[in-house]
Amino acid sequence: TAQSDDFVIDDELITKIFKPRDHFSHKGNYGKCIISGGSYGKMGAVVLAGKAALHAGSGLTFVLAPGCGYNILQTSCPEAMFINGGEKVISRIKIQQNSVYGIGSGMGTEDVTAKSLLMFLETYHDPLVLDADALNILSKEKHRLNLIPKKSIITPHPKEFERLFGTTENSFERLNLAREKAKELNIIIVLKDHHTQIITPKEKVYYNVTGNSGLAKGGSGDVLTGIITSLLAQKYSSEEAAVLGVWLHGKSADSAAEKYSKESMQPGNVVQELGNVFLELNKRKF
Ligand code: AMP
Ligand code: MG
Repeated sequence: TAQSDDFVIDDELITKIFKPRDHFSHKGNYGKCIISGGSYGKMGAVVLAGKAALHAGSGLTFVLAPGCGYNILQTSCPEAMFINGGEKVISRIKIQQNSVYGIGSGMGTEDVTAKSLLMFLETYHDPLVLDADALNILSKEKHRLNLIPKKSIITPHPKEFERLFGTTENSFERLNLAREKAKELNIIIVLKDHHTQIITPKEKVYYNVTGNSGLAKGGSGDVLTGIITSLLAQKYSSEEAAVLGVWLHGKSADSAAEKYSKESMQPGNVVQELGNVFLELNKRKF
């Protein structure tokens, strides 16, 4: 069933995409990302996404979350700056220029939050990352799907994909539907699963083979959102950010599984292992 435009993400491709840091650089060279999400009782999701963005190398990282998350975020994620987006849930998503947004982790789908996301998308047109509740909100507003800025990356798991685009008979049909939607909406779809597939607007499909069942836990997807947003902020193209991000996430998970077991490893360990994977990548480049 594989077509000629289907690729397995291998070490060669990753080595080609990965850009080592320049000696003479400063934080301005590595972009600003704004991880947006969180709600009362679900602040952990943005903590994980924020930490993942930091550990994936972004120059400046902000977390936009409801005020009830202020202490949590400033304590658990002190390198990230806090932007107040409401009280207990997000009710406004402030637009900051020259920043890359990663929206949805633990955000909830309250009416005010949904409204604030739609208003934001009406005025913001640069590529961004949408995951989790941002996708669930859009699932209830299918006629607004065209508000997603072109070249954005969406990262649905199978259930979120189904809510967005409808049910399919099998994974082959799901992939075909994803190709159709990626093209129609001019976005990149990261179809998360055991072997995640990345579908581009030109209907190219990348298959990822890193990662393991230790990722089958709440919070794993939030880590991926943070990584991809961080890479996009660092001026990787949307396609590169998605491919490298998914691969890094899986590779770090494999490293975490070796240390802690698939059973015990936590999404936070996946964030911690990113460093070792970057060390390997840097060795390959020199
Ligand atoms: P989410 O459901 O949003 O938390 O995302 C789960 C993340 O973990 C995605 O990146 C999946 O690809 C990954 N994942 C979940 N289960 C597995 C598995 N059995 N093998 C490999 N990756 C997995
Ligand atoms: Mg998720």
